Amino acid sequence: MTELQIHGQLVLAMFVLAALSFLSLLFVTAPYGRHLRRGWGPTLPARTGWILMESPAVLLFACIYSLGEHAADSVPILLLALWQLHYINRTFIYPFRIRAGNSRMPWSLVAMTFLFNCLNAYINARWISHFGAYPDTWANGAVFIGGCALFLVGISVNQLADAVLIRLRKPGEHGYKIPQGGLFRWVSCPNYLGEMVAWVGWAVACWSPAGLAFAVFTIANLAPRALANHRWYRDEFDDYPESRRALIPFLL
Ligand code: NDP
Repeated sequence: MTELQIHGQLVLAMFVLAALSFLSLLFVTAPYGRHLRRGWGPTLPARTGWILMESPAVLLFACIYSLGEHAADSVPILLLALWQLHYINRTFIYPFRIRAGNSRMPWSLVAMTFLFNCLNAYINARWISHFGAYPDTWANGAVFIGGCALFLVGISVNQLADAVLIRLRKPGEHGYKIPQGGLFRWVSCPNYLGEMVAWVGWAVACWSPAGLAFAVFTIANLAPRALANHRWYRDEFDDYPESRRALIPFLL
């Protein structure tokens, strides 16, 4: 089997993983944050968990990228920059901004996410710097720019929403409040919506099966969680805005 065939099998595995995750997450919500509960084994501080489980997305991705034949070409470098723009924040900045207090997460979840990030780093980095071809045509340029623009819109929505959520707690405060303003007027989880838009943009910009697999996985992972968070808000707060949806304004 060639490496390209193995890469194809791993991409396929990620589509299967997305389908399985979607089905199971509709019934079992991932045990972290407001959904943390007993029964998932030993835990570690949430901040450490975030850094550990997301680190392959920065470090392994950069290593694998650097081994590719096209690592010095301009389109792959721009894609690398977009990826790292998101993941350096998620891995090394975001965990220090959250008001995590004594919040913890299970080692089992950290281990599963770490392994997922290794797989995802390999299929995406290897594609953009090695297997992918980005010929310099007008049509390719338009698709690439459109995808990059969508990615930037998505991460802006994601980071603005994350910032609103983080500011809800004053230093030392615990517990939850009703988020207000921005896209929270319409949906409970604009951070997840932004994340999904960003990875759809990434898939368009890369125009690769690997990019598409990650976008599909992100939607499969975050859509059920948005529904669970929305249900949780409604159960928790009697005055939760009636017209607010879970994820997509006016629809879902
Ligand atoms: P949440 O919205 O659950 O939480 C984000 C932060 O805000 C946490 O620190 C949380 O505290 C705090 N918070 C949330 N809601 C409130 C509230 N109502 N009042 C006070 N504080 C609040 O997001 P996640 O933790 O699930 O995800 C964090 C980021 O990671 C998001 O941007 C998400 O898009 C991204 N992500 C991406 C995934 C992917 O598949 N690509 C998978 C999972 C996450 P606490 O932790 O104590 O609840």
